Amino acid sequence: MTFRLNHVHVYVLVHNNEVALFDTGVNIGSALDVLEKDLESIGQSIKAVRDIYITHAHGDHCGMAGLIKKESGAIIHLSCAADESNRNYSATDLLIPQVKKFYLAHGLAQQEVDHSVIVLRGIRDIVTPFKGDDLLQSHEIREFGQWQFEAIFTPGHSNGHLCYHFPREGILLSGDTVLPHITPNLSPDLFDVNFRPLENFLASLDEVANLPVRKIYPGHGNAIENVRGRVQELHAHHAERTQLVLNCLGDGPKTTFEVARGVFGQDLPDFDKFLALNETYVHLLDLAHKGIIREEQDGNVLLYTVQ
Ligand SMILES: [Zn+2]
Repeated sequence: MTFRLNHVHVYVLVHNNEVALFDTGVNIGSALDVLEKDLESIGQSIKAVRDIYITHAHGDHCGMAGLIKKESGAIIHLSCAADESNRNYSATDLLIPQVKKFYLAHGLAQQEVDHSVIVLRGIRDIVTPFKGDDLLQSHEIREFGQWQFEAIFTPGHSNGHLCYHFPREGILLSGDTVLPHITPNLSPDLFDVNFRPLENFLASLDEVANLPVRKIYPGHGNAIENVRGRVQELHAHHAERTQLVLNCLGDGPKTTFEVARGVFGQDLPDFDKFLALNETYVHLLDLAHKGIIREEQDGNVLLYTVQ
């Protein structure tokens, strides 16, 4: 990948010369060639892909699903919510007005909003359009050769995120729900006002911690063996972040972006401003939902105040 994360993992099962992929990578530059070469190294090819299991509808995880399907006729499996989110975020005519409205209301300047729009367009450009063929429910079981695995609904990092649990092997493909070195970014779903990322994410972490898993294979970075330890670290991170957000609100009402600058610093590059605002917003949303702070409209912006 050309982004800061540098890479995304595609996990592969092979049975009788057929392949199942878990996530696909981005449709950018030579990514398809890289995947083809990697499959060749194990005696397989893109054409042999029979199934594509997607963890979530972010471009780095599903960007090549449509392309691979075109070449191989593979079946695309993902959750219903992820399929809907993919459709919504692909419709740039609907997306751009939503993005402008949301980020202006939360205190970004027009110039920064325009930059966010460019970034989002860029992110959507790395996704070959596709729609799901098989919409998975939580705890649905699927088989591929001798493998049996369960789709586990773990919303939070994104709406409709699934992890894939292999109970016999004690393995979980966690997508971006549990990552080893960074905390998964939490962002609102601009098309689903009822989606509460933080509350969902913390519940999903608990669901993961309670699975009989000895090893997590994440979407980015190395495998994780201390599953409960990592889950505790992620919980602790968000508890600390909540406190930082509340501290920022101690001296009066603020927009989400003002709080984000207090938490993340004043001199952020444009894309980091966008991420910081998202991260801050999900905490404010959670605090408002719990009645600890309140949200009020002030002209064109929304202000948050401790109750
Ligand atoms: Zn993601």
